[in-house]
Amino acid sequence: MDTIKKTGLVALAVFIVAVSVIILTISALTGKGDEPVKEEQDTAKTTTTATEPTQDEIVAPFEISISSGAPTIAVGDQTVLSAVLTPAQPRVKVCWYSEDTNVVVVTTDGIATGVSEGSAQLKVVCINVDEKNPEYSLPSATYSISVVAATGETGNQVIYDRPPRGNQDLIVVNTSSQLSASYTPTVKQVPESIPATKVCYLTPEALQAYTEMLAAFKKANVGDVYIISAYRSYKKQSELFTEQIKIFTDQGYDEASAREAAMTTVNPPGCSEHQLGLTIDLSTDGTTQHDFGSLAQGKWFLNNAHRYGFILRYPADKVSITGIAYEPWHYRYVGVEHANYIYSHDLCLEEYIQLQ
Ligand SMILES: [Zn+2]
Repeated sequence: MDTIKKTGLVALAVFIVAVSVIILTISALTGKGDEPVKEEQDTAKTTTTATEPTQDEIVAPFEISISSGAPTIAVGDQTVLSAVLTPAQPRVKVCWYSEDTNVVVVTTDGIATGVSEGSAQLKVVCINVDEKNPEYSLPSATYSISVVAATGETGNQVIYDRPPRGNQDLIVVNTSSQLSASYTPTVKQVPESIPATKVCYLTPEALQAYTEMLAAFKKANVGDVYIISAYRSYKKQSELFTEQIKIFTDQGYDEASAREAAMTTVNPPGCSEHQLGLTIDLSTDGTTQHDFGSLAQGKWFLNNAHRYGFILRYPADKVSITGIAYEPWHYRYVGVEHANYIYSHDLCLEEYIQLQ
C-alpha cells in the first residue's frame, strides 16, 4: 500500500510541475497577467517625468495608448495628457506635440492649453529610443481635443488628470479636473472620540485641524455634529456612482441618460474632492441636511471653520463658478492661511487659485 501511495504522489508531483512549466511558458509568451499589467501602466505613466531607466533594452513590439486627458477644454484651461506604453518601456520617453498650435498648445510632457475655439489633433510619439534596435517601427497615437470659449470665471483653471505633486491643499477637483484611480493620499482613521456615523479617514493634517475645530465647537455649546463622510477612495466613489446610475436605469432610463442624471447628485470616480482626504461632510442627525447652514451648528462652522483651515467649499452664491449646487454640509481643508484669505475676501477655491 505504501509503495502504491508513494508512486501515486510522485506521479502527482511530476504532473503539477509539468502543468506549472506549461502555464509559465504560456504567460511568458503572451505577456499577459492581471497584476503585471497594472504595474506596467503605473510605471509607464511616470516615464514622462522619470529619469531612472531600469531596463536596458526595448521589449518589442509595444503599443502606445492615451490614458488621461479631457476631450474638451476651454480657452485658457489646461488638461494633463498621459500615455501608457504596453508592455512598459522604461527606456522610452514620449513627446507630445500639437498639429494646430493656433487651437491648442502642448508641452512635450503633455500639459495642453486651449488657445482658441476649434478642434485639433495632439500627437504623442516615442523618443530616446535604444539605437541598438533601430528597426523597430515605433508606435504613436493621436488625441482629438476640442477647445470651447472660456466661461469667464473659470478661465485659466489648471486641470489635474493625474496625481498632483507638491502642496495638495489647494487642488481643485471636479468633473473637468480629475484625480486618477491611483491617487491615494496617506490617511489616518478618525478616532472614536470624534463623533462620526461610520469609520472615517482623513489626512493627518486635516484630522488634526478638525480635532482642534471640534474642541472649539464643543466649547461653544451649540449642539452635536457628526462626520457623515470623509475620505472616499476612487473605488468607493465608483461604487457610489454605479449605484446611482442603477437607480435611474431601474426607473427605465437608458444607460446614457441614467449616467447624466446620476451626475447631478453623485460625482463620477476621480471627480470628487473627497478622494483628497481633505474633505468632510457634516450633519447633526446623520443624514444629508440641505438646511444645515441655517441650523445653529451649521452657522457656527460657517463663521468659524476658516480659523482652523476649513472652507465651505460650495457656497450658494458661487454655484456659477464651482458648477456644484450649494452644499452647506461640505467643508474642505485648505490650511489656515488660505482659508482665512478665502473667507475674508468672500471667494471660492476656484477664484482663489487664480490669484496664486
Ligand atoms: Zn461632500
